[in-house]
Amino acid sequence: MARIAIVGGGIVGCAAASWLMAEGHAVTVYERDPAGRPASTGNAGLIALPEISPLARPGVITQTPRWLLDPVGPLAVRVRDLPALTPWLLRFIASARPDRVEKAAAALAWLMSTALRDHQELARRSGMSGHMRRTGALYITASEAGYRAAKAEWDERRRHGVPAEELDAAAARRLVPALTGKFLRAFHAPESWTVTSPLAILEALRRWIGASDALVKQEVIALRPDDREVSIITAEGADLPFDRVVIAGGVWSRTLVRGLGLRVLLETERGYNTTYPSAPIDLPMPVFFSDHGFIASPLAVGLRVGGAVEMAAPEAPPNFARAAAMRTVMRRYVPDLPETGGVEWMGCRPSTPDSMPVIGADPRDPRIVFAFGHGHLGLTLSAATARHVASLIAGRPDPKLAAFGIGRFQKGRTAL
Ligand SMILES: Cc1cc2nc3c(=O)[nH]c(=O)nc-3n(C[C@H](O)[C@H](O)[C@H](O)COP(=O)(O)OP(=O)(O)OC[C@H]3O[C@@H](n4cnc5c(N)ncnc54)[C@H](O)[C@@H]3O)c2cc1C
Repeated sequence: MARIAIVGGGIVGCAAASWLMAEGHAVTVYERDPAGRPASTGNAGLIALPEISPLARPGVITQTPRWLLDPVGPLAVRVRDLPALTPWLLRFIASARPDRVEKAAAALAWLMSTALRDHQELARRSGMSGHMRRTGALYITASEAGYRAAKAEWDERRRHGVPAEELDAAAARRLVPALTGKFLRAFHAPESWTVTSPLAILEALRRWIGASDALVKQEVIALRPDDREVSIITAEGADLPFDRVVIAGGVWSRTLVRGLGLRVLLETERGYNTTYPSAPIDLPMPVFFSDHGFIASPLAVGLRVGGAVEMAAPEAPPNFARAAAMRTVMRRYVPDLPETGGVEWMGCRPSTPDSMPVIGADPRDPRIVFAFGHGHLGLTLSAATARHVASLIAGRPDPKLAAFGIGRFQKGRTAL
C-alpha cells in the first residue's frame, strides 16, 4: 500500500483515485475548487469509442484558413493569446503529417481498446450502475468538402477495426427523424456510448472518494521530491509527504510539470454548449454535425448542443456568441430547436498538439505520474487512464504506454 496524492478532482483524477483506492492504496485527492465547473462537469457525455483520429490531420489543416475567417466557426484562435499558443500550434501543424497521424491513431486505438471494459470495471469498483448506455452516434455531412474529410477519417477508423456504416440522408433520417433539414450523407457508428450526465458521474465518484475523507479542498502549488518522499506544497503553505504523486489537473497541470523542470505542450481547446432541460426534440442518439465541429447529445439532464474549438487562455473571458452560433447552425438541420430555455456553458479541454494524453512517469523520478492532456476524450479515456496509472504505480506499465510519455515534448526529441 502506498500513500498517494492526486492533484485534480476532475474525471481523470477521480477515476484514478477510485481505481487506486479499490486496490488498497491510501489516496488523497486535492481539488482547489470542488464547486467549479471544469470540462469534466459539462461535456457532451459521449464514451466516444470510435474517435481514435487525432485532430491534427491533413484535411483539418487545409480547412483551417476558411474556418479561421469565421469568428464563431468550428475553430478559432484568440488573437491576443497567439504568441503563447505559437509553439503548440507549430507542433499541431507538424503532427498533421500523414505518418504521424497514422502512428497517433494506432496508439489511440490501442488506448481505446479497453476503454469500455475499464469504464465497466470502474463502475463496479465505485458502485455506479445505469450511468451509461450504448446509443451509437450519427455523424452527418452537408458539403462535399465536409464529406471528403469525414470519409477519410472513417476510412482510417475502419482500418483500425472501428465499425461504421455510411448512409444516405434518407437512411440517416430513419435513424434520427428529427433531422428534417438538408444534408448529404452520414456515418453511423454503433459502438458509441452515452452517459446520463457527466456531472452526475463526477459527483458519484467524488462521493465515493469523499466517503473515505480522501477529497480535500486545497490547491497544490508545487511538488518537492527528496530521497525519502515526494512532498506536495499547498497554497495554504502545508508541506505534505507522500510516496507517490499523480498530476491530473487538466490544463493547469502544466504549471506543476514546468515546476519540475519538464517541457510540456498543453493548451486549452475551449468548447461551448447549451443544455435544454426540456427541449421538444427526441434524439435517439448523439448527432455530430461534421462540417461544423459540434454535437447534439441526448443526456438525462437534457439535450446538450455544442462543441467547436477556441484556442485561448483558460482564464480569458468566455465568448458565448459561439454557443449561440452553434444553435443557429443546428436549426438548419433540426428546425424545432428552441430559441430560448437553454443554459450556456464553457469548458477548457486540456489538449496536446498530437491529441494524445500524457500518461506516464516523470522520466527522472518514477514516483511522480502524469495523467492529463486528454483533449476531446477525457471522459472516454478516464477509466483506461486510471488502470494505466495503477500499472505505473505498481511498476508494471504496458510497454505500449511509452508512446504517451512526456518524453515526446522534451527538447531534442521529435514528435511521433
Ligand atoms: C464542450 C466539450 C465537450 C466535450 N465532450 C466530451 C465527450 O463527449 N466525451 C469525452 O470523452 N470528452 C469530452 N470532452 C473532453 C473532456 O471533458 C475533458 O477531456 C476532461 O473533462 C478532462 O478531464 P480532467 O480531469 O483531465 O480535467 P478537468 O475537468 O479540467 O479537471 C481538472 C481539475 O483539476 C483541478 N486542479 C487543477 N490544478 C490544480 C491544483 N494545482 N491543485 C488542486 N486542484 C487543481 C481543477 O480545479 C479541476 O477541477 C469535452 C470537452 C468540452 C469542453
